[in-house]
Amino acid sequence: MIEAKGYAAQSAETDLAPWSFERREVGPHDVQFDILFCGVCHSDLHQIKNDWFPGIFPMVPGHEIVGRVIKVGDHVTKFKVGDLAGTGCMVDSCQVCENCKKDLEQYCLEGNTGTYNSLSRDGVTPTYGGYSNTIVVREEFVLHVSDKLNLAAVAPLLCAGITTYSPLKHWKVGKGHKLAVLGLGGLGHMAVKFGVAFGAEVTVLSTSPKKEEDAKKLGAHHFVVTTDEAQVKAAMGTFDFILDTVSAEHDFNMYLSLLKSDGTLICVGVPSKPAEIAAFSLLAGRKSIGGSAIGGIAETQEMLDYCAEHNIVSDIEMIDMKDIKSAYERMQKGDVRYRFVIDMATL
Ligand code: NAP
Ligand code: ZN
Repeated sequence: MIEAKGYAAQSAETDLAPWSFERREVGPHDVQFDILFCGVCHSDLHQIKNDWFPGIFPMVPGHEIVGRVIKVGDHVTKFKVGDLAGTGCMVDSCQVCENCKKDLEQYCLEGNTGTYNSLSRDGVTPTYGGYSNTIVVREEFVLHVSDKLNLAAVAPLLCAGITTYSPLKHWKVGKGHKLAVLGLGGLGHMAVKFGVAFGAEVTVLSTSPKKEEDAKKLGAHHFVVTTDEAQVKAAMGTFDFILDTVSAEHDFNMYLSLLKSDGTLICVGVPSKPAEIAAFSLLAGRKSIGGSAIGGIAETQEMLDYCAEHNIVSDIEMIDMKDIKSAYERMQKGDVRYRFVIDMATL
């Protein structure tokens, strides 16, 4: 076993605190890498607080992981010691079902293995995430990371990046489309960058008037304050797509009214409670609601390569591991500019 250290929540009621644990030895198909940076996703907070479902504790969160390879198994061909490496929200899947075969491991019919708060394929061993010093992952779920970009700012691409890139690609959002990005946080700011890069006319829908200047700097063409009735009224019926990144309960019917006929609202945010949606909100204008979870491994690599080519990274605030609690408090208030990244050297 490999001795690892990290920050864990011992229960949904306790704060994260230093914790030592074991990771499996490096198997023939495994890559071990030392973690240099880990992004802080709102999903980390949802999960340590049991917002979605009862979690597996102790829980070491973190699924925006980048670092450097220190050991590879005998059969590993794609990585060698010294390479940069990354891992996102999943570390395994069945690899044989219809969805896995289509490079959609995130929708593995047997369930993918989450990077943390999940069980390994043996059904008993919990997985532990990136708020830690080192990790062992099977080769197929390790991504290549470019050395041309700021490595800390690459970390959030592994979740916030792919989660917004994938639906924009799937729905072919681009030139000629009016895209609204709902919520300007970790996912939202990446959605703005990708939407602009793909040629869409991008509007940020935000509850925070003070983010307008940032939104424009990120490349957004328009900004709508969703608590301002007049601004919302003027935006009604104007968008082809809304990418909804909101982490808390909100009124889907109101946002559906902002779509054009045949428009689509794409859910990527995961509030803890189900939403109430009136049939009228959809049938008046033949509107659709869809959803999307992260992205497959091949698409994640494609996204990382695209970012390296187009010089796209996340806008980050670097924090020390010990400051995670105040980072969560700010995240809960929607006050993230625009992703916290933990410097693992401070663990
Ligand atoms: P985040 O950085 O906290 O951003 C969420 C943003 O939503 C906030 O910055 C805020 O933006 C807005 N917001 C918050 N509360 C709101 C409310 N009550 N009404 C309207 N807007 C509100 O979170 P994140 O890391 O981007 O994650 C966003 C959500 O996506 C989370 O639920 C997370 O679990 C989920 N997620 C899903 C996937 C997936 O695969 N689908 C992957 C990763 C994360 P403004 O200040 O601009 O209003
Ligand atoms: Zn995430």
